[in-house]
Amino acid sequence: MRVLVVEDETALAQQLRERLVADGMVVDVAADGREGLYYGEEYGYDVAVVDLGLPELDGVTLIQRLREGERRYPILILTARDSWQDKVAGLEAGADDYLAKPFHYEELLARLRALVRRSSGFASPVLRLGGIELDTVAKEVKVSGSRIDLTAYEYNLLEYLMLHPNKVVSKTELTEHLYAQDFERDSNVIEVFVGRLRRKLDPEGELRPIATIRGQGYRLAVE
Ligand code: CA
Repeated sequence: MRVLVVEDETALAQQLRERLVADGMVVDVAADGREGLYYGEEYGYDVAVVDLGLPELDGVTLIQRLREGERRYPILILTARDSWQDKVAGLEAGADDYLAKPFHYEELLARLRALVRRSSGFASPVLRLGGIELDTVAKEVKVSGSRIDLTAYEYNLLEYLMLHPNKVVSKTELTEHLYAQDFERDSNVIEVFVGRLRRKLDPEGELRPIATIRGQGYRLAVE
């Protein structure tokens, strides 16, 4: 999952980056609204966190510009504790949720996860598709009811594919959303992870849940 954080308080931004990365996410941090607009338009994100009080370009205008530019990923705004006006302005600009400062990181994380799964059409934190059950809170995976052990990379890959079912996902997209900070842009690495994940999901080679679309990428095919 790739997250954009637009926050001008350096210490908070740094803390968010560290914790989100520790939770398996790829994180870009922008320190002002203009930089946030650049990142937000240039890259594909699964979700964004936008502080409303920002230098250069305020958060409400930033969100309006992103929405005018057809950027549809969910956005959570950070607001001052008692400013209901800010919350209203942010939501009406196109944000999807808000959190008042100061906040607990766990609440931010839970809200971000909920936004991402809802934008993919899942209401439950347990994603169920074609005999695969992925618990996004416990980070556990079951196939036909039996628990399988995945590495963090394999889990993140499967979660991303399950959040985009029946869609062809390119290797570039997977690299950008899952592994940007860990690897060179080497598509062989993705092939290796997909191969391992396939063997764990389907050791007998019967279900073939992940199809290779030649020259385009992968698709988690489910009914
Ligand atoms: Ca601020």
